[in-house]
Amino acid sequence: MTQQFRVPLLDLKGQYDSIAEEVRAAVEEVLESQQFILGPKVESLEAAVADYCDCGYAVGVSSGSDALLIALMTAEIGPGCGVITTPFTFFSTAGAVTRVGARPFFVDIDPVTFNLDPRKVQTFIETECRFSREQGLIHRQTGALVRAIIPVHLYGQCADMDPILAVAAEYGLLTIEDAAQAIGALYPSTETGAEKHAGTMGDYGCFSFFPTKNLGGFGDAGMVTTADSQLAETLRVLRVHGSKPKYYHQLIGGNFRLDALQAAVLLVKLRYLDAWVARRRQNAFYYDSLFQGSRLSHDGLVTPPHAVWESVSSRTSSKLETVTPGISSDKLTSDGRKSTSQRHVYNQYVIRAKNRDELRLYLAEQGIGTEIYYPLPLHRQECFASLDYKQGVFPESEKAAAETLALPIYPELQSAQLEYVVEKIKAFYAARA
Ligand SMILES: *Cc1c(COP(=O)(O)O)cnc(C)c1O
Repeated sequence: MTQQFRVPLLDLKGQYDSIAEEVRAAVEEVLESQQFILGPKVESLEAAVADYCDCGYAVGVSSGSDALLIALMTAEIGPGCGVITTPFTFFSTAGAVTRVGARPFFVDIDPVTFNLDPRKVQTFIETECRFSREQGLIHRQTGALVRAIIPVHLYGQCADMDPILAVAAEYGLLTIEDAAQAIGALYPSTETGAEKHAGTMGDYGCFSFFPTKNLGGFGDAGMVTTADSQLAETLRVLRVHGSKPKYYHQLIGGNFRLDALQAAVLLVKLRYLDAWVARRRQNAFYYDSLFQGSRLSHDGLVTPPHAVWESVSSRTSSKLETVTPGISSDKLTSDGRKSTSQRHVYNQYVIRAKNRDELRLYLAEQGIGTEIYYPLPLHRQECFASLDYKQGVFPESEKAAAETLALPIYPELQSAQLEYVVEKIKAFYAARA
């Protein structure tokens, strides 16, 4: 049979072509100004991101990894400190913790959302730590002072923040959100009954504008958000080697500056972000509907949760409710309050699949690009061997690493391409039935 389609995991060219003129004009402006580091373009982007996310302050930095690093530095987390996070994430979430000299404490994920499981965070604290108001939270075996939690909004879906923030408040921990994959994602907060943006619920929100993220630059770039003006100022000072005024250093920072060229490109792209996210969500719902009603679930294929959190007014503990794709979750609750829902922005559309590696090879032969995010959980990485985590200690993360596969989901995909992907997945399992 002749190959009908080529469906790459991601193709940025179509998106670029659609905005090329505007981007070129914005870049030209920077070239004419010859101001390449920080400056007015970066300030405009910071204001635009703070406005988009509805938060106090946004500080542009050199990458998402540096956003995590500088947030940890601003929080004065360093040697002797510990940070609770997920082992099922991109490397830099935990890499940043070790870069500042602190120790990551991994806690397993929720198997439905792939995000940090708040109940397991609570269990970790209760069984492995001791707490007093005077001393804070101490990890018994290592003596580390646990200072923070880093939840990751993996694939573009918010971690269950209410219980995470509650645990953080109970034990005096900071919350640093790794929102690298989740700009524009929403989570219903109990506080106001309204949705809150990913990256604005904790003390710091860390964003990446790596080209493959939903808002991607033409190179590396990142952002840290915070509601606190003092923290924003410290972030700005640490970004330029801790210099304030120029050439006088009270703090030791680094070069975490954002380029004006990246800011110019991102300012143009930010205007299209919601439209692109809407297309990603449409694609996700279309995949869901194509998978639905097939025998694929019998073959061990699980589609990602398109979930809303139960209405905040009625829920006592957060619980996921999976809804039919396309059905608005913006409904009234029994007491008449508007129910709030979360918005998954689908930076990745990730399935669980039986015989995942074989399926991946087969799809590659059919011209379909896929990726595994991530094949080896962080607690099993060689560089973290000294942390002494054994195989099997985080079964959900290990299972996810062995079963998950990201399918093409980018906004410019045509429905025929999505149909082709699902058709080929069905063919793969049919041949094995
Ligand atoms: C991309 C990513 C980062 C790092 O961002 P960079 O801009 O590539 O440094 C951190 N955490 C997560 C979850 C990511 O997906």
